[in-house]
Amino acid sequence: MKRALITGITGQDGAYLAKFLLDKGYEVFGTYRRLSTPNFWRLQYLGIFEQIELLPVDLIDSFSIIESLKLAKPDEIYNLAAMSFVGASFEQPIASAEITGIGVVKFLEAIRNIAPDVKFYQASTSEMFGDNSFSQQSEKTPFEPSSPYAAAKLYAHNMVKIYRKGYGLFACNGILFNHESPLRGLEFVTRKITNGVAKISLGLDDSIELGNIDARRDWGYAPEYVEAMWLMMQQEAPDDYVIATNETHAIQEFIETAFDIVGLDWKKHIRIDERFMRPVDVNYLKGDYKKSLTKLGWRPKTRFKALAEIMVNSDLERWRRWGRGEHFPWDAWNYPNERKILSRKVKLDR
Ligand code: NDP
Ligand code: GDP
Repeated sequence: MKRALITGITGQDGAYLAKFLLDKGYEVFGTYRRLSTPNFWRLQYLGIFEQIELLPVDLIDSFSIIESLKLAKPDEIYNLAAMSFVGASFEQPIASAEITGIGVVKFLEAIRNIAPDVKFYQASTSEMFGDNSFSQQSEKTPFEPSSPYAAAKLYAHNMVKIYRKGYGLFACNGILFNHESPLRGLEFVTRKITNGVAKISLGLDDSIELGNIDARRDWGYAPEYVEAMWLMMQQEAPDDYVIATNETHAIQEFIETAFDIVGLDWKKHIRIDERFMRPVDVNYLKGDYKKSLTKLGWRPKTRFKALAEIMVNSDLERWRRWGRGEHFPWDAWNYPNERKILSRKVKLDR
């Protein structure tokens, strides 16, 4: 039986990947970090919590990383842990560098020293392309990071390549474009919209405050993207791959599609709020997954409208169940409305 160690198992991709690997017959170990309140709702939502061995790891703490390697003795490591929200990386750029950048090197060093045969997957990102002038981004497109998050991820990406070349580690970078699902965190724009649309349609709220709705993204469906991670790790040699849908849509199109699903006029409910504008944004992402299709046999299946439907319908269903007083693993009922969260962009002297 193969053994996999997934860092960031409490996140969207960690949960889907854990389910995927359990279904393949893997023994799955997952790292979580200590929080004052446990955060296992996604694993419970997918019904897999009891099948996972949990290990406490914080990417800030090298020794917890070494300990996790010794305890799990993995064949494959999927490093999904990161401070994954671009907006937060502007508010905490140093934590972003330490966790999302240096944290990866701590893993690479631990592998090099104690388990050099382990395969390593690094969650790289299309955000590394930043605001470049290319109409479509592939593995060959130059990087131009536009956020502390992207700069930290690019550092990690380069270190993975250096350890691959320099020490012969089996280490891959998956350059994944945005991927969403009902398990997406509520601060990301798609889920913020689908959760807001569900609440508005049920009369629980009236508006959604957003920032730059002209930006364009290449959005895919997360359960399909975790399969691509696994495929990269089954190849003869390690390499880097773009995973995307080859489509791009503006945030405004996602808003229109989501409101259409519940038969409401989006213009009556969307407010533009400067709090959600970033100091620098990435305005255009459109991937090119040709290499992944050719080498991995991977292609996306769920397209833009179907993705919006899955997400709106699942948020509607959750708020209906909540209305009936049902209890189930879920984040939104417990999440503070972003209106309540102060950030440095709010002018307190106004
Ligand atoms: P999530 O935000 O849902 O999950 C991030 C995970 O990282 C959580 O389990 C979180 O733990 C954990 N984590 C955060 N900080 C630390 C830390 N200091 N030590 C240990 N663990 C930590 O992200 P996704 O699942 O969406 O993404 C997975 C990975 O893929 C991330 O690295 C992300 O940057 C990257 N990525 C994601 C894309 C996407 O569209 N989803 C696109 C491209 C790349 P906790 O639950 O305790 O907060
Ligand atoms: P990202 O691509 O990893 O930054 O994913 P996000 O879902 O956080 O953001 C996607 C795009 O939506 C970015 O261009 C944001 O500037 C834009 N956006 C507009 N309004 C919002 C908002 O209220 N929240 C978030 N998260 N993004 C927003």
